[in-house]
Amino acid sequence: MINKFSALALAGLAAAFAFAPSAQAAECATTIEGNDAMQFSTKSLSVPASCKEYKVTLKHTGQLAANIMGHNVVVTKTADMAGVNGDGMKAGADNNYVKPGDSRVIANSKVIGGGESTTFSIPVAKLAAGEDYSFFCSFPGHFSIMQGKLTLAK
Ligand code: ZN
Repeated sequence: MINKFSALALAGLAAAFAFAPSAQAAECATTIEGNDAMQFSTKSLSVPASCKEYKVTLKHTGQLAANIMGHNVVVTKTADMAGVNGDGMKAGADNNYVKPGDSRVIANSKVIGGGESTTFSIPVAKLAAGEDYSFFCSFPGHFSIMQGKLTLAK
């Protein structure tokens, strides 16, 4: 009886794996959460070089509005981060705190508030192996806390 049950459970697991999305697709996407305590849920992202695009979904798990506790995700070389953040602040909320046409920005999401989510794609061809990249929130005052490292994996 127990053996038969185990066999059924294993068969169920095998079926679940068979219907799971391919590993390739799963590796080319991630979700970052941001909250009302001004925290991202991760401090590092590793982008597989085999991906054409790397999809990032930003999920705001808090309740505060976008004009009070807005979050976005901006990807730049770490060396460009402070400059892009400063120019983004001047660009203001209408531009999602990113200077329009800023060539230092590799990719960015829009600014969202509590309960919202947004997805954007990083063109992986724009990333070089060994380069030091960062992702951060450019909402005024968030950049020093809400940031992490991004690297191109092999
Ligand atoms: Zn933020």
